[in-house]
Amino acid sequence: VFDVLVVGGGPAGAAAAVYAARKGIVTGLAAERFGGQVLDTMDIENFISVPYTEGPKFVSGLQQHVGDYAVDVMNLQKAAKLIPARAAGDLNEIVLENGAVLRAKTLILAPGARWRQMGVPGEEQYRNSGVAYCPHCDGPLFKGKRVAVIGGGNSGVEAAIDLAGIVAHVTLIEYDSQLRADAVLQRKLASLGNVTIITSALTTEVLGDGAKVNGLVYRDRATEALHTVELEGIFVQIGLVPNTEWLEGAMALSPRGEIEVDGHGATSVPGVFAAGDATTTPFKQIVIAAGDGAKAALSAFDYLIRLPTE
Ligand code: FAD
Repeated sequence: VFDVLVVGGGPAGAAAAVYAARKGIVTGLAAERFGGQVLDTMDIENFISVPYTEGPKFVSGLQQHVGDYAVDVMNLQKAAKLIPARAAGDLNEIVLENGAVLRAKTLILAPGARWRQMGVPGEEQYRNSGVAYCPHCDGPLFKGKRVAVIGGGNSGVEAAIDLAGIVAHVTLIEYDSQLRADAVLQRKLASLGNVTIITSALTTEVLGDGAKVNGLVYRDRATEALHTVELEGIFVQIGLVPNTEWLEGAMALSPRGEIEVDGHGATSVPGVFAAGDATTTPFKQIVIAAGDGAKAALSAFDYLIRLPTE
C-alpha cells in the first residue's frame, strides 16, 4: 500500500514523486511511458536555470533524480480505471490495463496531454524539423523565417500574434469560413502587418526537402483548388487533448476533459490530487508542470498528516 501513488512520469509526475519521497512516505509512480511529452521534444530553452537542453537528456535527468529516492517506479504501466476510497482513510485503487490493482492512501494524477495532429502526409516525418506544436517553446527557433499557424481558435490566433513578433511572416490557416477566436484577439491579429489570414482552407500536406519543412499545401474549400505556401515552419494549434478519458465519471473534469483542480492541486475527490498538462492549470509548460507536481505532493502530504491514526 502506497501513501502516495503518482500516475504519470512526465515532469509533473516526476516532481511529485521526488517531493513525496523526500517526506519519507511510501511513494510509487506508475507511468505508461516515463518522460512523457518531453521524450518527443528536441530543444528546450525555457526551463529556468538551464539555458539549453534536449528532451531525452532532460528525461534522463528526471529518471536520475527520481532514482535518488525510494520511489517504486513502475514504467510501461497504463492506468485504466480509478476507484476512489469510499471514506476518508480508506484506500483509493488504480486498476492497470493489465488487470493489476495498485492501492494508495492518496493519489497524484499527472497523465499529461497530447497535441491534436492534422493527420496529413509529412506531418509526422517533419515533426521537430519544422512541424511544431508549442509556440512558447519553439517560436524563437523560427526567428526571421516564414511560418504558418494551423487553427483559428484562441490558441491559434494567440500563437499567430506571438509569432508575428518573432518571425518574418505568419500565414494563419482556418478550416471554417471565419476565425473562432475572441474578437479582441482577432482585432489584434488584423492590426499586424506581417500576417496573412486564410479561411475555408484545409491543410492537406506538409512539404519538405527530406530534412526539413519547406512548404504546405491547402485546399480552398470554396473552389476545391489546391494552393502551396512556401515556408520554414508550421505550428499546429488545433487542440491539446488531456489523457483523461479513463477518469470520466470518477471526478470533475472541465468541458475540455481537463481534471478540475483548485490552487492546491486538489481534485473533486478527497485525497486525490492532480498536476500538469492534464489539469485546468493554465499554460502547458515543463516548468509549470514540475511546479504543479511539487505542489500536489505537498498537498497530498498535508492531507495524509490529517488522516485519523489507525
Ligand atoms: P506529460 O509530459 O504529458 O507526461 C504524462 C505522463 O503520464 C507520461 O509519462 C505518460 O506516459 C503518462 N500517462 C498518460 N496516461 C497514462 C495512464 N493512463 N496511465 C499511466 N500513465 C499515463 N514545454 C516547455 O516548457 N518547453 C519546451 O521547449 C517544450 N517543448 C515541447 C515540444 C513538444 C514537441 C511537445 C509535445 C511539448 C513541449 N512542451 C514544452 C510542453 C511540455 O512537454 C509539457 O507541458 C509537459 O511535458 C507536461 O508535463 P506533464 O508531466 O503534465 O505531462
